[in-house]
Amino acid sequence: MSHCRLCESALHPVVGFGPMPIANGFLTPEQLTPERLAAERFFPLELAMCPACAMVQLVDVVDEAAMFNADYAFFSSTSVGMARHFGRFAADVKARWLPDDPFVVELGCNDGIMLRHFGAGRHLGVEPSGNVAEAARRLGLDVDDRFFTAELADEIRGARGPADAILGANVVCHIPYLDAVFDGVRRLLGPKGVFAFEDPYIGDILARTAYDQIYDEHVYYFSLTAVVGLAARHGLDVIDAERQPVHGGEVRFTLAHRGARPIHPRVGALAAEEATRGLGEPSTYDTFAAAVAASKEALVEAVRETDGPLVGYGATSKSTTVLNYCGLGPDDLAYISDVTPTKIGRYTPGSHIPVRSYAEFCADPPRHALLFAWNHAEEIMAKEAAWRAAGGRFLTYVPRVGWR
Ligand SMILES: [Zn+2]
Repeated sequence: MSHCRLCESALHPVVGFGPMPIANGFLTPEQLTPERLAAERFFPLELAMCPACAMVQLVDVVDEAAMFNADYAFFSSTSVGMARHFGRFAADVKARWLPDDPFVVELGCNDGIMLRHFGAGRHLGVEPSGNVAEAARRLGLDVDDRFFTAELADEIRGARGPADAILGANVVCHIPYLDAVFDGVRRLLGPKGVFAFEDPYIGDILARTAYDQIYDEHVYYFSLTAVVGLAARHGLDVIDAERQPVHGGEVRFTLAHRGARPIHPRVGALAAEEATRGLGEPSTYDTFAAAVAASKEALVEAVRETDGPLVGYGATSKSTTVLNYCGLGPDDLAYISDVTPTKIGRYTPGSHIPVRSYAEFCADPPRHALLFAWNHAEEIMAKEAAWRAAGGRFLTYVPRVGWR
């Protein structure tokens, strides 16, 4: 029996995806030799929920050093849409919460895609992935490359004073030791300071059967219900909860010291919606598990029935869960097209499909492409309008399996 990482209650098992490699563990050609492949790491990817505190979480967690290190391949700034989104996130925070001359801290600032909007003032990025932290420094940003803990929070406050805002985009759900992070936030935030973070929303994952959001880096899958409980244990209020149409559906949670700021009516509205949908009930997740199994069956059938060669579009972290759970490999997909320089020329983790440049996709366009980057579907449909007009078709699997 596994126990909740936060409240230690017995967990309710939801879905087992089988042995899974590190989602961002793209392999070099040298690593494809039989001897080197024997060293490829797999771990059991299992999702569970806590009936006591409602937190949805992975049962087993891969150690952080294996995921977020100097080889970390995800650079936020490669997506134009995301760059625009983070510009708006920064502008919202400034307009709604910040005093003059604020001190802003961002957890997991990646390559500086959001923090650069605060670069002219007092700021600090906390980013343990060496190569993306270096990219942020090249923008002139101040970056600490340690993991955020209560001790580091005290050190930062001692050296630079309390924070007016602590931000996190697609990072808080990555951190197993969430209680230590919330403790650090409470210590570092000034009296009127806010902690604003956004991560994939379990409500959207369930509604769209978006099981590919479940992979090693995402340790937690937040509902408002679970975040309110976690915040309360650390003396914090959730003062706003805003749905965001990015990464397949997220919620931006804004927290403040208890009683320090008024609570926006959106918080009560979303809490009521979650109660109606049963996001704190184990049976809701049993329904999701059945939908995941049906989605896998439909996707495998669609891939095997595709007339002619099929390639992948977007070697995303999410694709690792789909490829390995559905048992798809190089016999099913000739290659996966991607624009990230650090992934091109490598092979997908576990499934060993070659990743090739987008230029190859354009030079010899396939007729069929499996869309792994479905969260950027609108951007991609516009970009590939000519290919689609010439007969190119995307196979998608979120929210359901089908061609478009
Ligand atoms: Zn719990």
